[in-house]
Amino acid sequence: MDFISMEVQILQDKQVCNLCGKELDFFDRQENFTIHTRIGYGSVHDGDKVHLQFCCDCFDKVVAMCTVSPIEEVS
Ligand SMILES: [Zn+2]
Repeated sequence: MDFISMEVQILQDKQVCNLCGKELDFFDRQENFTIHTRIGYGSVHDGDKVHLQFCCDCFDKVVAMCTVSPIEEVS
């Protein structure tokens, strides 16, 4: 395991937000805004794995950055 893999592993264990670095609290963990997948072609990270997780605040920021909203409003 190289240094970067170890660092990623440590971050996963601690469950910190990838965007702001905050340790995820109870509510963040409950919402579970995570993406865990292997990256295909078309990215500079071809073939790598992604472990992306956000706190509630950063999830809202990421949604606000989207041109096409990923949110389906349920009323
Ligand atoms: Zn965050």
